[in-house]
Amino acid sequence: MTQLILKDGKERSLFRRHPWIFEGSVARLDGRVRPGDTVEVLDAGGRRLAKAAWSPKSQIRARVWSFDPDETIDDAFFKRRIAAAVARREVLPQLAGQAGMRLIHGESDGLPGVIADRYGDTICLQLTAAGSDKWRKAIVAALVKATGAARIYERSDSDVRGLEGLESVTGWVHGEAPGVDEPPLSIDENGVRLGVDVVGGHKTGFYLDQRDNRLLTRALAAGRSVLNCFCYTGGFSLQALAGGAAHVLSIDSSGPALAGARANLAQNPQLDASRTEWLEADVFDALRVFRKEGRKFDLIVLDPPKFAPSAAHAERAARAYKDINLLGFRLLAPGGLLMTYSCSGGIGLELFQKIVAGAAIDAGRDARILQRLAAGADHPVAVHFPEGEYLKGLLLQAD
Ligand code: SAH
Repeated sequence: MTQLILKDGKERSLFRRHPWIFEGSVARLDGRVRPGDTVEVLDAGGRRLAKAAWSPKSQIRARVWSFDPDETIDDAFFKRRIAAAVARREVLPQLAGQAGMRLIHGESDGLPGVIADRYGDTICLQLTAAGSDKWRKAIVAALVKATGAARIYERSDSDVRGLEGLESVTGWVHGEAPGVDEPPLSIDENGVRLGVDVVGGHKTGFYLDQRDNRLLTRALAAGRSVLNCFCYTGGFSLQALAGGAAHVLSIDSSGPALAGARANLAQNPQLDASRTEWLEADVFDALRVFRKEGRKFDLIVLDPPKFAPSAAHAERAARAYKDINLLGFRLLAPGGLLMTYSCSGGIGLELFQKIVAGAAIDAGRDARILQRLAAGADHPVAVHFPEGEYLKGLLLQAD
């Protein structure tokens, strides 16, 4: 097997079990290797440390599959890791009965470059690295074995594949495409039915990571006027309605996302549709207009897209986060609640909290954090991989 020899001192991050080996850490390769092949990782002194997947185009030159240099990376390896990921979620009471669930959360489940989201009997699979791309067949077979899923759709069209030199790949990789006469795919999320478009929706079709926070919104919504910014298909909006919100105004710049939101509302006849309003607009523009109009809301949700995909974009992203949070505070009624999120890997919790604090000061509002928010338990964070904690949020109350 080809050997990847690290530069002196660069073995330290591997001792801390961080799975990424950067370009600058690699001294040389002994042997020939194709993208995605498994290499044996050795420190400068020749000690064997790990097995990893080779990614020649990426700055992350190799991703560790196993810190046991004697473990063989083969079909059985993927069966073991995937069965463990599925089993881990089965014992968590907070996930019991959820039709929508992240089954594999990449590095945090010991499977770099693999994301798998289950929606009922359908799984949406996303492979984002050269290594995981190479093992597609084994991964699909192991997923079918561990879950009995009827269908798997591959949605490997994320931008990060470009950094790996990979083309985008989409299509059904297990089972048949649903027939035209079948009802569209949907899940029950804590009593609300939500459609999931694995083929045309964002990412794997749906933002499972906000499930618990949508439920919290429901618990807080009674009698309140709610503003849901960046609403996508209306998950927060519908839970707010289910919680008895007086009125829910939802904004997104995407027409198809809002069409999905309206369709979702129609699928939930138990909710009072007359209390909703959908606005296709840029959130930054819309909130400025509301401010001029003097509008106020009792509960505001800010769940923007990833402004900073990496630390390199952090500064510009920080300005954008500051901007919307400032507008959010200005639109909050006295005693109002703000639920604000960042899903940017490049913005840590501490920085996010500082940005939000700065926004409150500029808005002239005193505010306190009532709760820190994160992704649900189906998005575990490996202790050695802080990057896995991408979603952070704050529930604040203004004076
Ligand atoms: N809260 C949603 C997920 C939000 S994803 C849920 O629970 O499902 C982010 C959304 O922001 C996407 O739907 C995207 O279309 C929208 N978006 C991105 N930039 C925007 C902008 N400047 N103004 C309004 N919407 C925007």
